Amino acid sequence: MHSRAVFLDKDGTLVQDVPYNVEPGLIRPVDGAWESLRLLQATGFQLIVVSNQSGIARGYFTEEDLLAVEGWLRATFEAAGASLTAFYYCPHIHKSEDNCHCRKPKPGMLYRAAQEHDIDLASSWMIGDILDDIEAGNRAGCRTVLIHNHHETEWDLAPWRQPDFLVNDLISAARLISGSASALQWNLPNGSEKQRSTRYD
Ligand SMILES: [Mg+2]
Ligand SMILES: [Zn+2]
Repeated sequence: MHSRAVFLDKDGTLVQDVPYNVEPGLIRPVDGAWESLRLLQATGFQLIVVSNQSGIARGYFTEEDLLAVEGWLRATFEAAGASLTAFYYCPHIHKSEDNCHCRKPKPGMLYRAAQEHDIDLASSWMIGDILDDIEAGNRAGCRTVLIHNHHETEWDLAPWRQPDFLVNDLISAARLISGSASALQWNLPNGSEKQRSTRYD
């Protein structure tokens, strides 16, 4: 049987954004992270972290360094009473000679996760703090929630980049997805509305 998942961006969504950090001692969960993970897991979702980690391509750290980050994630999820199904990262930089399929806004990590963990993407969700996360989720066919914490600054709301829902923090996203919240915010900052019927490339 297919399972459903919540795909979580890491930096700025699940943990506070410290650019290019791979030191577990410097990782800080966002407020409400533990409760959010517990709630989503209890609702029946696999929990999968999908993260752009171009610091590898830039030479700032190695894939081995990210093993420590994954270890921190596993321990933190367990401490929260949840469990990390998988951690996917894109090690590439966005440039023409390194045109990978995994760097968000591309949906490659979600597709791979779906294959490897038998995930039904249409009944899954993507939570992120910038519109690149939303585009990846939308392109994969998931429902999408943008955490409006001012990390997105450009607001390029092309059709693929329009979130289904906008919330103020991770716990609000978790409550929304788990169905325990009804107060949804539909108004995007520039006033445009999502038009799901007009998705295209
Ligand atoms: Mg982020
Ligand atoms: Zn990549």
